[in-house]
Amino acid sequence: MCKIGIPRGMLFYDYYPLWAEFFEELGAKVVVSPKSNKEILNSGVLSCVDECCLPVKVFHGHVDYLKDKVDYIFIPKIISIRKMEYCCPKILGLPDMVKFSIEDLPPIIDTNINLRKNSYTSSKYKKAVYEAGKCVIKNSSKIRNAYKKAEESYQRYLYLLSKGVIPIEAIKMYNKTFVDLNYNSKKHDMSIMVVGHPYNIYDEYLNMNIISKLINKGIKVMTPEMVNKDEIIYYSAQLPKRMFWTYGRRIVGSAFSLIERDEVDGIIYLSSFGCGIDSILIDLIERKAKNKGIPFTLLTLDEQTGEAGIDTRVEAFIDMMKWRDKDDFNISTLR
Ligand code: SF4
Repeated sequence: MCKIGIPRGMLFYDYYPLWAEFFEELGAKVVVSPKSNKEILNSGVLSCVDECCLPVKVFHGHVDYLKDKVDYIFIPKIISIRKMEYCCPKILGLPDMVKFSIEDLPPIIDTNINLRKNSYTSSKYKKAVYEAGKCVIKNSSKIRNAYKKAEESYQRYLYLLSKGVIPIEAIKMYNKTFVDLNYNSKKHDMSIMVVGHPYNIYDEYLNMNIISKLINKGIKVMTPEMVNKDEIIYYSAQLPKRMFWTYGRRIVGSAFSLIERDEVDGIIYLSSFGCGIDSILIDLIERKAKNKGIPFTLLTLDEQTGEAGIDTRVEAFIDMMKWRDKDDFNISTLR
């Protein structure tokens, strides 16, 4: 049986259910690299160029883990996933970067996904799906049917995200017949938005498990993937200039939406050291939060980041929010 490796990094939390179901429907065995860990980070740092951001380095580590265990590794070249928008150049250059950085790789399935001028129903996208599927089977109608089934699973996954289930949990649940959607609906005294690119906010090793730590403190956690798409479009359109990075639009639109609708008590931005796009997004969100009096903090992740440092910053942020609540009506006129 043909084995397809899917690295647990970069856009894994966006698309894993779609592509895993697709390859499995075609009869392949899907092998996923384990959760990020010290060995994966170290091998990624060693194989990737120094200038790259942390998630790209970790992605290299995931590929390195898979390379001797599978027949193919699936690393699509994702140029655009929405009309008139682009992904970060490091996302679209991912398959090429990997090929030139890691030796002895099995063949890479580097299908081009470019929806800048096309839609998911366009012949160009169908061709891309066929390109990916033909590594396993040549029959185009079987590839078409497998993709159709995979899309159904993917819609269930997106539905779970829209109901407030975080991707790490939704991946475990999306193909179950019964799902408890009361999962994230408890009453909370405080809600915090953890915002940033999905590979930063959902990789538990990179961010020192920040989402679980907040949930364990009884805090409701919101992420960009939980905000309604129409809200994201509406609020990101408030920017004076159109945001042409798809993830940038999602991040800014979701944060603006929660801030404007008064649905968060505080915002934690998780960024990777050296991310050019984040340097713009952070500023936009921080200004909006300040205007509305919502506490904002930035945590920057790199390969040197220590857990104790992150924990201390998060604890201090929560304490500050609690004191602020308690002393809200007791502010000196002199400030
Ligand atoms: S958006 Fe930032 S973190 Fe993401 S791949 Fe590009 S540079 Fe790296």
